[in-house]
Amino acid sequence: RAKSSGRGTFHFFEPELDQRMHARRNLERDMRHALVSGEFELHYQPFVDLKSGDISGLEALLRWHHPQRGLVSPAEFIPLAEETGLIVPIGEWVLRTACAEAAKWPADLKIAVNLSPAQFRSKELVPVVFGALAASGIGAQRLELEVTETAIMHDSEAVFAALGQLHKLGVRIALDDFGTGYSSLSFLQKFPFDKIKIDRSFVNELLSAKEDSRLIARAVVKFAVSLGKTTTAEGVETKEQLDILREEACTEMQGYYFSRPKCSAEIAQMVGAEAVSAPVVTRDWPAED
Ligand code: C2E
Ligand code: MG
Ligand code: MG
Ligand code: MG
Repeated sequence: RAKSSGRGTFHFFEPELDQRMHARRNLERDMRHALVSGEFELHYQPFVDLKSGDISGLEALLRWHHPQRGLVSPAEFIPLAEETGLIVPIGEWVLRTACAEAAKWPADLKIAVNLSPAQFRSKELVPVVFGALAASGIGAQRLELEVTETAIMHDSEAVFAALGQLHKLGVRIALDDFGTGYSSLSFLQKFPFDKIKIDRSFVNELLSAKEDSRLIARAVVKFAVSLGKTTTAEGVETKEQLDILREEACTEMQGYYFSRPKCSAEIAQMVGAEAVSAPVVTRDWPAED
């Protein structure tokens, strides 16, 4: 609602702005409580080796069950958690929880955890990762840290130092959402990483009339192979996309076609936690012809 300032002018925007800032403050306040109240939960989405069809590992994805608002999407609260620095304690909880969960799975499965730029600025990242590994007892080579191109561009020195140390310990590094940032190839060449995750937007367009997305996927795979890295395609939803990616010799895929992110109990069942060593493929996996 517009208010009169008393001189005949109306400020249409203030109440709206005020409302938005109010909503932000509320979300921030609620987020501070969420960690201690146990409102966060991790879901896990498998990524699959394209040659064998086996699950190679699972990516931890954060979920927030807000007591009034229900499920709040990471897209909504992670940016605010980054701005406020709350992502640092939340991120530590994610690392510890994800590693502890992975300790229950067959030992050949990796656990991938997303990292925010703010976690590199905290200087605590290396001891926090080390602590999570030690507490869970899983080997460093089972942990994969996902960082985006944009994250490594911004604080390149801090990120480079921390990732370099972690990489030396045996932790694997994946470049998330690849192709959406602006990192130069020479910059990437110096960067310690093991895997490129081809952004969902390219995978999405693989079937469009234009050849472009397919050529981009092919170029990324070639680039990765020449640097000795593997590739994972994100957001694979159809058999057609899968077939193209397999032809382009992509290493792994992840997406709704194979499995949506699932809660820990469902994942334990899918991977045969504490029981078999061979992952159980439960749904929609195409038969070899
Ligand atoms: P991301 O790391 O690129 O994760 C992939 C996102 O794509 C996830 O969304 C996942 O649910 C979704 N997805 C997977 N397969 C498909 C598919 O076939 N089709 C479609 N349309 N979507 C698919 P989600 O869980 O909403 O997470 C969004 C983003 O939030 C993540 O993108 C990641 O950047 C961030 N995030 C999630 N959990 C964490 C966390 O613990 N820490 C940090 N720092 N960021 C996180
Ligand atoms: Mg990710
Ligand atoms: Mg991604
Ligand atoms: Mg993405």
